[in-house]
Amino acid sequence: MYPPEFSYVRAESLQEALKFLEGNDNTRPLAGGQSLIPMLKLRVLSPDYILDINRLNELNYVKTSLNGVSIGALTRYHDILSNDIVKSKVPLMHHATRTIGDMQVRNMGTIGGAISNADPASDMPVVLTALNATIILSSASGSRSVKALDFFKGPFTTDTNKGELVTQIEVPVLDGYKTVYKKVVRRAGDYALASVALAIKLKGNEIEDIKLAYGGVHDKPFRAMEVEKNVIGKKLNDDLVKDIASKVSSQINPPSDHRGSSWYRREVVKVLTMKAFKEVA
Ligand SMILES: Cc1cc2nc3c(=O)[nH]c(=O)nc-3n(C[C@H](O)[C@H](O)[C@H](O)COP(=O)(O)OP(=O)(O)OC[C@H]3O[C@@H](n4cnc5c(N)ncnc54)[C@H](O)[C@@H]3O)c2cc1C
Repeated sequence: MYPPEFSYVRAESLQEALKFLEGNDNTRPLAGGQSLIPMLKLRVLSPDYILDINRLNELNYVKTSLNGVSIGALTRYHDILSNDIVKSKVPLMHHATRTIGDMQVRNMGTIGGAISNADPASDMPVVLTALNATIILSSASGSRSVKALDFFKGPFTTDTNKGELVTQIEVPVLDGYKTVYKKVVRRAGDYALASVALAIKLKGNEIEDIKLAYGGVHDKPFRAMEVEKNVIGKKLNDDLVKDIASKVSSQINPPSDHRGSSWYRREVVKVLTMKAFKEVA
């Protein structure tokens, strides 16, 4: 299907983009276009303006910062995957990025576009929710930061206000943690039927800290906070992992769709959880 009619505007600088957004409410920024273009063609969206932000090179970087690792919103999956800082300091993100789409999607798709799209089955939101990353939103009147846990509000809905652009993602570096990302797909290159991001710090066999998040099984990334609190200080063994898997499975609210039924997703989550823990034990 053809997209609805819209006007195309290309920003040459961040300042220019923010000024345009301030004066034009019904505008959609165009980053990698991997979700926006299909949504336009399906007529899910009908913006008056498409604001192309692809020339904003100032939003394309990965650097270490006081708070960990800072990633510009226009950084593409491909650049995240091949970046040594991400590989060594945020291995969870590196592993998850490897599973996203195919080469074309990874060459074009951006981290800012992925999180702004907020597909509940998307991979990057799960990673950022597990790590409790911070999202920086900028507008013509300044910037503010939002924790990933508060940023994702529901399916395709985020805490982005009118006139705001996601400009940076700040990811904490977890020293001494083992991390793993696992995902079940119907076919190669697909969105997750279910996914899990686990970061765990062990003292001997005892859980000192844990971060556990899921994708594709709730209306937004699901952080298993209640479970996390209950297992700190406990010995990691098969019985505990089975208990964690069954508790998470009962707390999520998975959809039934073309990828799988709600019941099936609950079962997949149990298996994924056990496999993830097996890798870090
Ligand atoms: C075949 C295929 C397979 C895929 N498989 C996967 C997969 O396995 N896992 C996965 O996670 N994803 C997958 N995707 C989606 C992919 O991750 C998209 O790239 C991503 O969802 C959007 O990023 P983008 O840069 O292309 O954003 P765009 O498509 O350009 O934009 C997406 C939305 O975000 C808004 N936006 C973009 N940038 C900003 C910004 N800086 N600030 C505010 N709003 C912004 C846009 O206006 C739009 O509403 C797949 C896509 C395709 C086409």
